[in-house]
Amino acid sequence: MLLYDLDLPSLSNLLAEWGEPAYRARQIWQGLYVHLYDSPSQFTNLPAALRAKLAEEFTFTPFTVKTFLDSSDGFTRKTLFQLSDGHLIEAVLMRYGDPADEPPSSLRDTPPKFKDTGGSRRGARRTLCISTQAGCAMGCVFCATGQLGFKRHLTSGEIVAQVLYYARMLKEVNESVTNVVLMGMGEPFHNYDNVMAAIDRLNDPDGYNLGARRITLSTVGLVPQIRRFADEKRQVNLAISLHAVDDDERLAIMPVARRYKIDEVLDACRYYIEKTHRRVTFEWALISGVNDTPEVAAKLAKRLAGLLCHVNAIPLNPTAGYAGQAASRQRAELFKQTLEQAGIPCTIRMRRGIEIQAGCGQLAGAFVA
Ligand code: SAH
Ligand code: SF4
Repeated sequence: MLLYDLDLPSLSNLLAEWGEPAYRARQIWQGLYVHLYDSPSQFTNLPAALRAKLAEEFTFTPFTVKTFLDSSDGFTRKTLFQLSDGHLIEAVLMRYGDPADEPPSSLRDTPPKFKDTGGSRRGARRTLCISTQAGCAMGCVFCATGQLGFKRHLTSGEIVAQVLYYARMLKEVNESVTNVVLMGMGEPFHNYDNVMAAIDRLNDPDGYNLGARRITLSTVGLVPQIRRFADEKRQVNLAISLHAVDDDERLAIMPVARRYKIDEVLDACRYYIEKTHRRVTFEWALISGVNDTPEVAAKLAKRLAGLLCHVNAIPLNPTAGYAGQAASRQRAELFKQTLEQAGIPCTIRMRRGIEIQAGCGQLAGAFVA
């Protein structure tokens, strides 16, 4: 069994069964999530017999690193992990906000070391995009993961371990993962329990201690889960992949639209906002001639009127299985302006990692560089 799959109460129970004193569980917990140990031999504060028992009963490595790719500007790294049963998942680190004078080759040293930039500077973000499933069952036509189909859910430990992997790497250069987005492969709300267990583990003040507000979950819009998430009131940011204002148009690119109408999704968002008083982000992949016209923007603004929200628009990233093209820069700007004039805040997201197939929707578990 994977040690990272246990929460603290289960670990405590297990150690009690083994006849260990109560404080051992916390020592192990801190070893894993504060000191970022990934092998039994690093737990030098534990008796040798207990270390041996841990090594015997648990796995410490949920995956092996198959390969990694850095973008040519050196600020984005995508790593391909092979899970113990052979499935492939990916996680992408994006470095933002570094001073302009930083040499662009900083990420391209001999792997897997990063150049020491003297610690995270003010405002510098290290955002990690992680996977929650191998493949995805939702089948959005424009998404490489959707084109791949569903392989399996990730366990909570496999989700958390992606963060720990990059955290260890950054720690060597006095940096840390500052933000986590659940926007890699998979639909987080389709794997609800494991994803929430992973979030709670990352968030644990006695463990990894990543603030909930630094975590963003993106969903295709599974209505019952949005409501459940609202009831549970975690302070995690919620993003909804909308991509269309009209049910038929949405259905043409997102099979999930057959199950949930846009009205139901927006009602669930209203419920979420009521319960949490938090702003919802709507994601919008701008596809030329499909959903990037000023008319669509005007309709969208009407539908979102009065909602505490914000639109994140990103020109479509190319994928092998979909012929749609990215909206032009002018169209994207016009889309943003139309929304903003109608009172809906909108950001055009920078395209990151496109040439290494690390952009949104390009993660397919195959390195086709
Ligand atoms: N399954 C979740 C999270 C993973 S996808 C979801 O769909 O929300 C993360 C984001 O990338 C989603 O908003 C998704 O719609 C978007 N996306 C998928 N394929 C894309 C592409 N080819 N170009 C731009 N964005 C894409
Ligand atoms: Fe799955 Fe999200 Fe891709 Fe749709 S966009 S197929 S929900 S990963």
